[in-house]
Amino acid sequence: ATPLSIMVGTGKGAQAGILIRSAEALETAHKLDTVVLDKTGTVTEGKPVLTDIRPAAGFGADGLLALVAAAEADSEHPLATAIVAAARQSRLTVPVASGFDSITGKGVQATVDGRAVLAGTARLLADVGIHTGELTLIAEEFSTQGMTPVLAAVDGRAAGVLAVADTVKDDSAQAIAALRQLGIDVVMLTGDNARTATAIAAQVGVDRVLAEVLPEHKADEIRRLQGEGRTVGMVGDGINDAPALAAADVGLAIGTGTDVAIEAADVTLISGSLSGVVTAIRLSRATMRNIR
Ligand code: ADP
Ligand code: MG
Repeated sequence: ATPLSIMVGTGKGAQAGILIRSAEALETAHKLDTVVLDKTGTVTEGKPVLTDIRPAAGFGADGLLALVAAAEADSEHPLATAIVAAARQSRLTVPVASGFDSITGKGVQATVDGRAVLAGTARLLADVGIHTGELTLIAEEFSTQGMTPVLAAVDGRAAGVLAVADTVKDDSAQAIAALRQLGIDVVMLTGDNARTATAIAAQVGVDRVLAEVLPEHKADEIRRLQGEGRTVGMVGDGINDAPALAAADVGLAIGTGTDVAIEAADVTLISGSLSGVVTAIRLSRATMRNIR
């Protein structure tokens, strides 16, 4: 494209709240045939809220919440924030944990009042040989409704399930429909479990889901799609998404997300809404049409 048409395109983008960092990004966006969306904070608001507590026999709801909140206190994961906020809101006394350790993509462990607390995915508990029994069914029920279950174990025994819900952004479904109308394949990519991811995907009209992807493997999934001959856009907000944003042909960061994601991306969507992706691609198509 000519320098003038690039300038015009970039300017129009800025007016629409879309910051395009390079001429190359504006020129490449019209070729995208696949757009990969991170789930948490991109398709959803990324402000999860604790909605349910199902203690196992021998635990009370408050006692379980206090133990898990203590274990999660030093975690930066949005799920942890939701759990700690719920404990505070219920005015529970949350003990100070020691020996905190975060298990990337799976959960946390810590010692609370001399007890070993583990909180996270069903796989995290299974990995250390804890039998979740009927809690597995409860967790699956929550997942089917699009909530993320946090399973807890205390001293090697299953102690309960907490359910955390994250709202889908107002215009996610509309933006995804518009992308598909432009002939673009839309894929959702997440570290969350497949059942929850599939439920959220159904709510917004996405039919291809890559779930249970560990943070360090998100970029591999982008390269795998490129290996299929696709030109791939990636939209994300988190620190975890930065390598995938950099690997994509065009990386688009949610403006309300982390600085690390914004720095790794070619485009920033200031409002944080997915409709910005549609506008960016339309703008690129218009820019490239004008110069041919
Ligand atoms: P995402 O942010 O897409 O959910 P992550 O890789 O951060 O992906 O986490 C994957 C899954 O691991 C989460 O969906 C959650 O089930 C579990 N998990 C991660 N961190 C925590 C935590 N601090 N507490 C409980 N569960 C966690
Ligand atoms: Mg995210």
